[in-house]
Amino acid sequence: LLQLSAPLFMLGMMYREVKQALTNMERLFDLLDERQDVRDSSDAEVLASSHPTVAFRNVRFGYDPRREILKGIDFEIASGSTVAVVGHSGSGKSTLARLLYRFYDVDAGSIAIDGHDLRALTQASLRGSIAIVPQDTVLFNDSIGYNIRYGRPEAGEDEVVAAARAAHIHDFIVGLPDGYDTPVGERGLKLSGGEKQRVAIARALLKNPSILIFDEATSALDSKSERAIQAELDRLAIGRTTLVIAHRLSTVMDADQILVMDAGRIIERGTHSQLRALDGVYAQMWELQQRQEDAALA
Ligand code: ADP
Ligand code: MG
Repeated sequence: LLQLSAPLFMLGMMYREVKQALTNMERLFDLLDERQDVRDSSDAEVLASSHPTVAFRNVRFGYDPRREILKGIDFEIASGSTVAVVGHSGSGKSTLARLLYRFYDVDAGSIAIDGHDLRALTQASLRGSIAIVPQDTVLFNDSIGYNIRYGRPEAGEDEVVAAARAAHIHDFIVGLPDGYDTPVGERGLKLSGGEKQRVAIARALLKNPSILIFDEATSALDSKSERAIQAELDRLAIGRTTLVIAHRLSTVMDADQILVMDAGRIIERGTHSQLRALDGVYAQMWELQQRQEDAALA
């Protein structure tokens, strides 16, 4: 029995570790800064535009070549505008964000910023121009100040404070026993979901990116924190080229364009009012969420 259960035990442990590794993958890529199969070409250009246009052209992609996830994605985010993506979980929304940040290269089609294919840009300038506010922000086992400064490590003390103020987290921080030096994470302060998202917003503000990605940035929050954080996110997005992945439709009503994704394809697109008038999938999702919200309030 022992002989049999030991390998099974090992297998279970390995499974958990692999799963954990997948969860932390984005952070890992960030830390490594360079993946083996995504490299700068020798003549890579530096992305310099402060108001870029992003274009996905017939993008096809699969994590595994045997299973295509994106099946021909076409859209453009005009300079300074906001495009929102909605759709069921698993439809490929976060994959769009991962490709734009160039965690992976497309299998077919292209993604371009101001007409420059991502593959022709240096990764440092690409990733320096994009900030992602995810659903669950990874905080490092370090001080809260470090966690904000991670957005731009060379930033000065005053810039860190200004970003924290703008994200409405400064007053909270100076109220902590060690202020900006207070450790957070496993061995330190436990932050609430809303506080973590404010750290993420401060981090993004400090980075001052020309391209912003929100990936279900408020979906882990209760509705009160969600409204407060949403207001900060809206302000952060002003004047920046923004991709919003949303699970609550009320947060994307004002987007310049909304894309509805299903199984790796865009099945509807338009403004909120256009999509409601279309009376298709988006309209159905909208009705459903309205009813759920009414029920929650009743
Ligand atoms: P969404 O954000 O819309 O919920 P994703 O873009 O995260 O969807 O995922 C789309 C599909 O790709 C899902 O079927 C998911 O299981 C798969 N997928 C996502 N990440 C990976 C990965 N790292 N390796 C393999 N498959 C993945
Ligand atoms: Mg997702």
